[in-house]
Amino acid sequence: MKKNEFLKELKDLQTENKDVKELYMEVSALAMKYLSSQWRPYTGRAAYYFSIEYLMGRMFYNNLMELGVAEQVKEIFAKKGVDIHVFEEVEDAALGNGGLGRLAACFLDSAAGLSIPLYGYGIRYKYGLFKQQFINGYQVEEPDDWLAWGDPWSVRKERESRVIHFADFDVTAVPYDMPIIGKRINTLRLYQAEGSDEAAKISEYLYPADDTEEGKILRIRQEYFFSAAAIGELVDKFVQAHGTYFKRFPNYHSIQLNDTHPVMAIAELIRILTKEYAVGFSDAVRIAKRTFNYTNHTILPEALECWDYQLLERILPDIAAVFKRLQSCAGREWKKLGCTESESEKMAIVQDGRIRMANAAVYVASTVNGVAEIHSDILKKEVFAAAYRYYPDKFQNKTNGVTQRRWLMLCNSELSAMFDRYAAGWRSDMKKIEMIDTSDQVVLHEFIAVKETKKKELLQYIREREGIELPKDCMVYSQIKRLHEYKRQLMTAFAILRIYFDLKDGKLPDFYPSVFLFGAKAASCYYRAKGIIKYINEIANLVNHDPQTRDKLRVVFVQNYNVSYAEKIVAGSNVSLQVSTAGLEASGTGNMKFMMNGAVTVGTMDGANIEIVEKAGRENNYIFGATVEELTAIRDRYDPNVILTKDLEARRVVETLTDGTFQDDGNGYFSELYRSLTEGAPWHKADNYFVLYDLPEYVNALLKANSEYGNKELFSQKALYNATHSSYFSSDRTIAEYAADIWKVNEI
Ligand SMILES: *Cc1c(COP(=O)(O)O)cnc(C)c1O
Repeated sequence: MKKNEFLKELKDLQTENKDVKELYMEVSALAMKYLSSQWRPYTGRAAYYFSIEYLMGRMFYNNLMELGVAEQVKEIFAKKGVDIHVFEEVEDAALGNGGLGRLAACFLDSAAGLSIPLYGYGIRYKYGLFKQQFINGYQVEEPDDWLAWGDPWSVRKERESRVIHFADFDVTAVPYDMPIIGKRINTLRLYQAEGSDEAAKISEYLYPADDTEEGKILRIRQEYFFSAAAIGELVDKFVQAHGTYFKRFPNYHSIQLNDTHPVMAIAELIRILTKEYAVGFSDAVRIAKRTFNYTNHTILPEALECWDYQLLERILPDIAAVFKRLQSCAGREWKKLGCTESESEKMAIVQDGRIRMANAAVYVASTVNGVAEIHSDILKKEVFAAAYRYYPDKFQNKTNGVTQRRWLMLCNSELSAMFDRYAAGWRSDMKKIEMIDTSDQVVLHEFIAVKETKKKELLQYIREREGIELPKDCMVYSQIKRLHEYKRQLMTAFAILRIYFDLKDGKLPDFYPSVFLFGAKAASCYYRAKGIIKYINEIANLVNHDPQTRDKLRVVFVQNYNVSYAEKIVAGSNVSLQVSTAGLEASGTGNMKFMMNGAVTVGTMDGANIEIVEKAGRENNYIFGATVEELTAIRDRYDPNVILTKDLEARRVVETLTDGTFQDDGNGYFSELYRSLTEGAPWHKADNYFVLYDLPEYVNALLKANSEYGNKELFSQKALYNATHSSYFSSDRTIAEYAADIWKVNEI
């Protein structure tokens, strides 16, 4: 189908008496028809992305934009009396929890944009990340039935189904292919589990709680299910095209393991080669070594996956056996290399009855990469120090990025149009925006007007979605990301209270009216995270209703934060809050989305914040807090109670957790948070994320930004400078680096 045929059919489309859902299905189907002639298989060397999560967001607008028909579709619908915004009712595809899944989506987008053959593989969950609502300030979760409106952007490939064997039952993996549209059309293939009820459970939910044995088994099944389906397919296709000379398998395939969840793929490839094609074990390992690459996403110990050997043996005996042989193989290699006992232990793949997935990945992968400079350094110096000593050449850094197509062109067409005026050609070469003169008064005032427009839109959106009216002229600070103690939403809550008390005491006469926005989901079994949500909602309730402060300070925790909400928030905010404990946020990508849209960062020297201020200037952002080195130096002797004794203002805010200022209805959330800060818990020391340590500097940084905002031109110049220096954080740059340094695949 040609473009004019597509547009003609669209013009002929009957819209009367059709609801949004019907229109959505019909337009999407038409677009699929239009793109199908360009969506062709590819048989040359390609890269494969294995990820247990893909946080795609809403595909409708993005796909129309990528197909180059967004404007025409909008006009055609307008003529029919249909506002294109009605499709905002379409659910996000939220088959992911947060940054890791969103990164996978940005990478696929950039590869297609650069015409790099990259194929995604994952799971087609029936229910995505839960839908969140607040009732009386508490998070309430509902299943995310994202398929309720159908899935017009996928094609079921029944005939390419495969059977996956577990010791106790078989499962059919049915592929669903989604086009990833850019300069070329790549494919995201998600497998759905079918067969018995037991089988279908495997692709029912994203991340089932894995704190029970049953949960753990289901998680293992999920990991093996999609890894084995993908590997089985790649091997079959290779054999069909090239025969069984498997030494050439890595010439055609470079597989990127997005964290450890798909590490089962390594064992599955070795199992197939040795069991089904009689390749010798060490040859099979050699082939695997040339095929796989591993990206680490976190150094939090609870996220480095370990599986109980006996548990795995029970459901996947052959896979367990491969890991065991891999350990012997590695053990011999380490002896030859002269590793000490303790080094071999640190690198061990199977030890004390547990399989350590990250170590298996590091041993086999050709390359191991972190996702920001500081994170890659920590991997080399700490987490994988022993492996780095013996295999230094494996280690690389690939600083994350985000796709400017969704995170700038789609969500901020106004700023994009301004860039068109001052940096023609930037859409295909983003570096061009660096040439924009941020001190030019005309440019600056256009930027100020764009920010005002986007803020107005955001406030309008919040009014519609949350039923909350916010002051028109306000400065917007936003902290949007998964809820986790290390991300320190609690520290922001304390900072807000400090500002609130100071306002009441008349200490901040020049404070510019401000809104603090939060967006976050708490994992359903994460008790403290849920307590923090309730606490912030209680603060919002107090602050927003206090007649003494409500013109100056507001707090809103938006419900059901997701990609589509993020698109509004990053475009309409002035300040991006990125305040993780130094050393713990591997990279962050939310920070990059805000930067691209002209927000300044109030943040710690952590993750990609460090590189952000390197590109955009420390003087154009508000950096505060302890560095990794400082924290290392004080970690052993840090006692938050010393701070609480001396700093009465800190004490006043922390004690609101227990002094009756706020109510958690006898649920114990707040007193437990209080104890986590003052006493610690069996598994950690008091205030192990250094909330109280960094709080005073945080408040100062927030107030400094606030005072500078009073000078609109000065502040906006800083904000614009951030936006015009954000091209490094385009995932196009990241993907070009992966393609050149890891996958060795070319543009086609
Ligand atoms: C970008 C994004 C994230 C990651 O945010 P961080 O601030 O990097 O943790 C999480 N969730 C959604 C919906 C996103 O769009």
